[in-house]
Amino acid sequence: MPEMITDPEIIAAYNEDALGLKGKFEGLFRPNSEAEVIDMVRTCISRKLPLTAQGLRSSLTGAAICGKGAALSLERMNRVIHIDVERKFAVVEPGIVLSDFKKSVEEAGLMYAPDPTSAEECTLGGNVATNASGSRSLKYGATIDWVRGLRVVDGRGRVFEVKNGISEKMCAGYGAMYRPTQLFVGSEGTLGVVTRIEVSLTELPANGFVGIVFFRDLKSAVDFTLEANHGPAYKAASMEFLDHACLEIIRPKAKGIAIPADARVMIYFEQEYGDESEKDRFLNLWFPLIEKHTPFFDDTQIADSPKEKKHLYDLRHHVPSTANEESIKAIKTGGCKISTDWAVPLNRLHQLFAYFDEIRRPLGDMMVLRFGHLGSGHPHFNFIARTGEEKIIASEIDDLMAKKAVALGGCVAGEHGIGKMKHRQLALQYPSPIIGAMRALKNELDPAGIMAPGNIFMDDTGDIAPLQL
Ligand SMILES: Cc1cc2nc3c(=O)[nH]c(=O)nc-3n(C[C@H](O)[C@H](O)[C@H](O)COP(=O)(O)OP(=O)(O)OC[C@H]3O[C@@H](n4cnc5c(N)ncnc54)[C@H](O)[C@@H]3O)c2cc1C
Repeated sequence: MPEMITDPEIIAAYNEDALGLKGKFEGLFRPNSEAEVIDMVRTCISRKLPLTAQGLRSSLTGAAICGKGAALSLERMNRVIHIDVERKFAVVEPGIVLSDFKKSVEEAGLMYAPDPTSAEECTLGGNVATNASGSRSLKYGATIDWVRGLRVVDGRGRVFEVKNGISEKMCAGYGAMYRPTQLFVGSEGTLGVVTRIEVSLTELPANGFVGIVFFRDLKSAVDFTLEANHGPAYKAASMEFLDHACLEIIRPKAKGIAIPADARVMIYFEQEYGDESEKDRFLNLWFPLIEKHTPFFDDTQIADSPKEKKHLYDLRHHVPSTANEESIKAIKTGGCKISTDWAVPLNRLHQLFAYFDEIRRPLGDMMVLRFGHLGSGHPHFNFIARTGEEKIIASEIDDLMAKKAVALGGCVAGEHGIGKMKHRQLALQYPSPIIGAMRALKNELDPAGIMAPGNIFMDDTGDIAPLQL
């Protein structure tokens, strides 16, 4: 029987996520191999002990923390098994840290494209289970677009492999099964433990520059983003934004970059190119567009060297970790960060921003940080609730916006998932027969309900309350 670690000093680290949320669990498993995962899952089945898989607990919905039972950390299963350079795919274990995996692939001369901001703090297994995406998803899509095969140990203790069909045509049963890996992408540990992952790789971009542009207001920044994404001319790999509150966070770190005093929004974009003439062609497209939408044209920064690009990248990416640090502080006074994850078609963004202005009054002076994937119609609004009461207010605003996003053709969760925080939003997204079908799938693969209870669906036993209310 596999040993469950119960030493409080060891398990404490596995009981907290990036938001500072804490769970309640009996112990920890740290398998070194798939055979050990099978053993541990079967032990939990026989003992009726719930089991929550963990990557590096960077989830922002409480999905990785364990409300009861045991945690199963995949951190020791972190090997790259194979990189096939010619056929452009890799096979890896789930616990590999994403940045380590991306580096191994780059050393082989290729790229694994998905790039969540948390690349150094998350695992590929966690990315699969949350369908992680990132700033370059604008060009390259999300994790779901790159996964082609998985091995899974389900809640019955069975191990099996699923592979996406690669024939041009297919018509064998329900369309959702043609790419069966997609059943497990976004499953948040509720169907089983992913023990092996096969992903597609692509060519490394030859060159790229990064631009940052400042705007007087959100409307001009959205208009700029809309125009840059209209038609194939620009093909930015990424278009991200920071609002005025985020600009105040990065100002002290901006070293050498003059952020105009009355700038209210910054857009960070990445443009890939082949040779110098293509670079010039892109710059000749971007400069007039920037000039058209902002009076701060002269403050625009274009970075080409790795050092300058990293500085701008770090500036943009400094904000999410600051927001999470604010969350950890707020938890001490009964609060927490509540962040929206809705996404809408790009041309509906104006409507969502205007709607927020209509409904924001109850937030009072709560800190609101808005940043993220503007080019993909996916900005995150982060409410730093200082008390339990403020958490309820922020959650209500989040629900209203999620509902509006669905009405505008979007979704309630663009990349963070449902976790233990947003169960009620699932019903905003899907009709009840579809939620029923998802539950039936869970029931087939995990009839005892031991896999990640409380994630996606409310815990039927009532032991795990939804997290923020
Ligand atoms: C600063 C910061 C920035 C972030 N930026 C982004 C971003 O740009 N884009 C984005 O999409 N997300 C982002 N995130 C959220 C987070 O990093 C992602 O959700 C990530 O995919 C979680 O990976 P993890 O390894 O930490 O998984 P964990 O947080 O440990 O787990 C997440 C979920 O996956 C399940 N799980 C983990 N491993 C397995 C496995 N092997 N088998 C089955 N289930 C498993 C867990 O049970 C849980 O439900 C950010 C987080 C932080 C802290």
